[in-house]
Amino acid sequence: MLLEVAIRRKVLTFKKGAAMPTPAASVSPTGDPWLLTPGPLTTSSKVKEAMLHDLGARDHGFIEINRRLRERLVAIAGGQDSHVCVPLQGSGTFAVEAMLGNFVPQDGKVLVVMNGAYGLRMAKICKYNRRIMRILETPEDRPSDPVALDRTLTEDREITHVAAVHCETTSGILNPIEAIAEVTARHRRSLLIDAMSAFGALPLDARRVPFDALVASSNKCLEGAPGLGFCIARQSALEASAGNSPALSLDLHDQWQAMESNGQWRFTPPTHVILALDQALKEFEAEGGVEGRGARYRENCRLLVQGMRALGFETLLPDALQAPIIVTFRMPADPRFDFETFYDALRGRGYVIYPGKLTVAPSFRIGCIGRLGSEEIRGALAAIEDTLAEMGVVDCSPYRPLGRTGS
Ligand SMILES: *Cc1c(COP(=O)(O)O)cnc(C)c1O
Repeated sequence: MLLEVAIRRKVLTFKKGAAMPTPAASVSPTGDPWLLTPGPLTTSSKVKEAMLHDLGARDHGFIEINRRLRERLVAIAGGQDSHVCVPLQGSGTFAVEAMLGNFVPQDGKVLVVMNGAYGLRMAKICKYNRRIMRILETPEDRPSDPVALDRTLTEDREITHVAAVHCETTSGILNPIEAIAEVTARHRRSLLIDAMSAFGALPLDARRVPFDALVASSNKCLEGAPGLGFCIARQSALEASAGNSPALSLDLHDQWQAMESNGQWRFTPPTHVILALDQALKEFEAEGGVEGRGARYRENCRLLVQGMRALGFETLLPDALQAPIIVTFRMPADPRFDFETFYDALRGRGYVIYPGKLTVAPSFRIGCIGRLGSEEIRGALAAIEDTLAEMGVVDCSPYRPLGRTGS
């Protein structure tokens, strides 16, 4: 808050000054651009301030923060009576890799339900881990298919685990995780979920949606600093996973055992990231938990999509398939639209967007998550309109694949 006031004041004094430079770029309270990306994301001033401490790994206060943090994360997933939280150093992928390595035994077989780059990454991890794997794929603009999953599990008795992505951040599509969980449970297989970009904003409750493990990270919808992942694991499944992990540093069972015995991390803990996440969770709870955070993101998403459509852009996904996390827009066909120029001009105006990662269509992405609200989304839309005028782009309608007209 102090930081915020100081910077506001600075901006005000600046505005009163005689020579105001060309249109002032919008900046966050710390002078950084707004991150409209899949992560890392804009964090609050208090989350950043929480990191202004050096704590020892064995510090009593720090051990207490860890205990509290693990409890709160389990509660967000509704797993109080069945699941435990095992945090892990590293980015989200480290946690995904740890989950697959831990829960799938050498003689297991994983079915990766895939419709984007993060599903593909899980398949790659299984290859590294030398686990037998099969892929059930839908196109990037189609949700995963529970009916096809049902068929595959009926036909292939060797499959022991199903790995799925809740919100596939590649496109921003919402996958039907409840239906996937229901089918997997009915076939008595084990479900592993990459909930990285959904956790904290989209509800997923272990009391209603059966899963053995879920992974997420500190820096997406929880709005902490990057550097920490965690697994919410069914305790019985975690116990049974002892000895499975092909990597020492990613051994979740070992990490859990160590934490249960003395409250400490096996290896150097990311102390600053943990302090930031502790503060981020306070803000998360103050906002009304999953419901409150999800509501802010949905409003961000609604404003963004409405504003971009008004400018002539088209979304990749119909609204019914869109998760309120990140939106994919089709690249305009107008030759005056050059993505690098567009990106740099927006960056200069204080907004960072993200290139597309799709194979189905040229595209770019704009995120709705992080410590931002309708004011910042409106600011981004104004900056986009301004930039389009500067580039001389009048028509934002997208490329059409050959042989197809209209939508
Ligand atoms: C962000 C993300 C990850 C992990 O990415 P990192 O860059 O390793 O943090 C994994 N899966 C999904 C769906 C994601 O959105």
